[in-house]
Amino acid sequence: MATKLSNRCRLIKPSPTLSLSAKAKEMKDAGIDVISFSVGEPDFPTPDYIKNAAHKAIDANYTRYTNNAGILELRQAICDKLLRDNDLKYSPKEILVSPGAKASIVNALTAVCDVKDQVLMGAPYWVSYPYQVALANAEPIYIPTKEEDGYKIRAAELEIAIQENPCTKALILNSPGNPTGAVYTKEELAALAEICIKYDILVISDEIYERLVYDDVKHISIASISEEMKQRTIVINGVSKAYAMTGWRLGYAAGPANIIATAGKVQEHSTSCVNSITQYACVTALNEEDDSIEKMRQEFSVRRDFLYNELKKIPHISCFKPQGAFYIMPGIKWYLDNNNQNIQTSDDFCAKLLDKYSVALVPGSSFGMEGTVRFSYANSMENIKEGISRFASFLQELNPGR
Ligand code: PMP
Ligand code: GLU
Repeated sequence: MATKLSNRCRLIKPSPTLSLSAKAKEMKDAGIDVISFSVGEPDFPTPDYIKNAAHKAIDANYTRYTNNAGILELRQAICDKLLRDNDLKYSPKEILVSPGAKASIVNALTAVCDVKDQVLMGAPYWVSYPYQVALANAEPIYIPTKEEDGYKIRAAELEIAIQENPCTKALILNSPGNPTGAVYTKEELAALAEICIKYDILVISDEIYERLVYDDVKHISIASISEEMKQRTIVINGVSKAYAMTGWRLGYAAGPANIIATAGKVQEHSTSCVNSITQYACVTALNEEDDSIEKMRQEFSVRRDFLYNELKKIPHISCFKPQGAFYIMPGIKWYLDNNNQNIQTSDDFCAKLLDKYSVALVPGSSFGMEGTVRFSYANSMENIKEGISRFASFLQELNPGR
């Protein structure tokens, strides 16, 4: 007889972004000309100045376990970065370095949540948040957001959600956001902060896309709104996106020392410290940044403009212009309602698109937003051009008379 799995884990589904990109890779390996817009990871190699630092760390034999929370030089470099970029003053004991921002979020949620606690998040949400909350034994609660509101949670909606869910412990806020690219302004954050303080809610502020903002948009951390807000915020960040270091696995959390110490205990008994070489490379990544980081941002900005303009040309596609991250999430609802192939859901839509046109997109259902699909434009311009042309042909095929 098969062993019964834990209730918590039976509900967890695989990450759709990771499984779709694995499927696209399999198709590619089988010789199919697939264009994958599925996974969100920079297509650039890690910059040389960071790779050189890793080579040096290996040669210097920095190959042992480090302090569980991260080497002091790195936690100091993170404190310096938070002061420089975010106007936030932390000391190294308020920093926990973990194997990716994913682990930072799970450690933080595990440190603060009990059974029956509720954790709020805006929908659409990043695919992993609901399961990360479930892993921490708490319940995810969704606050629907609308395209006309820029996919942002309004303070009044937050207040209603808290009143309707009396066991609310925390809010996960993600700005710049995955999958919409929405970026909260200082005024919007101040209004949310007021509610969080009023109801004593902790904010897990996922700022992993902070460096990827476009036009004159500025990233602001909700922790910088006031000292009172900083006391109830855990800032999450990492090197995966800005420094093109997804495979190196390093994220970090900054927050009140008691929460960070408890999250550190969770880590100590599960994964322990981050790979030592990665940690040394990240000291250099943060302290000695060269112009390669800004160049990647500029390239993403050009791709965003191109993809957005191409999507706008397609009849019956609605499209919010992302202000940050590297995703765009057009609405395909008209085509779900008006097509000749009995396609009814974003899942069916993406399956058919992959099957017939070899283009991989993530269905909006994965983000709690049926009627949409997500493109990641962390892809070459050549692939973006070919991919959007195939996408347009697919829509034409679905409704030739539109
Ligand atoms: N937060 C968001 C919103 C993300 O899109 C990602 C991407 N994987 C992460 C956190 C985690 O990043 P990582 O674990 O690679 O640091
Ligand atoms: N966060 C990225 C995405 O949404 C990477 C994939 C993942 O970690 O789930 O595509």
